[in-house]
Amino acid sequence: EITFPYNEDLMHKTIMVGDSGVGKTSLLVQYDQGKFIPGSFSATVGIGFTNKVVTVDNVKVKLQIWDTAGQERFRSVTHAYYRDAQALLLLYDITSKSSFDNIRAWLTEIHEYAQKDVVIMLLGNKTDMAGERVIKREEGEKLAKEYGVPFMETSAKTGVNVELAFLAVAKELKHRAAQQPNEPKFQIHDYIASEKQKSGCCGGYM
Ligand code: GDP
Ligand code: MG
Repeated sequence: EITFPYNEDLMHKTIMVGDSGVGKTSLLVQYDQGKFIPGSFSATVGIGFTNKVVTVDNVKVKLQIWDTAGQERFRSVTHAYYRDAQALLLLYDITSKSSFDNIRAWLTEIHEYAQKDVVIMLLGNKTDMAGERVIKREEGEKLAKEYGVPFMETSAKTGVNVELAFLAVAKELKHRAAQQPNEPKFQIHDYIASEKQKSGCCGGYM
């Protein structure tokens, strides 16, 4: 039920951030097309952006999701990429310690160049590769808590939590845009935790 006007024409620029190889392009392809295309995506052929419409509490939220064309390989993601982003998905690979360690550097860059109120979602990707995991879920949770950002583990291969990650971002964006002065704030952490509980998966801080 909508009790306030929300402009459905608003386009929310959302960007994919994280080390090369963590699965940014794969995650976006899984979200957009519902499939996993194995193998590395070319460093030079990015998919540019994908427009998605997410329905949140009967309201449409438009996301324009940008993927890098591999610039992150050379640490040359331009500041313009961050500048007008309203949301970002920051990924590491649970089988790669360096990609996890670099999250702090990415967050420093984000805090420097992105808008102050940018919506951030930290994702530990490739949970299907359980045998090769080197970063425990608790380590991701701890880091997320330290920075006050929501966290989930995903698999671009199986699709686990992929929809939920984008839905949570869309919800946060919509609730922020439609915030009424005396309305309780939307709690993205609580929302994710309750969704995870409903699916009987992974309690705790999410
Ligand atoms: P990007 O550089 O961050 O865009 O990463 P890519 O999407 O190109 O993925 C890098 C490699 O990891 C590719 O070989 C993908 O097939 C693989 N990959 C990405 N996500 C997953 C995942 O969730 N599970 C598994 N098993 N492989 C993945
Ligand atoms: Mg890519």
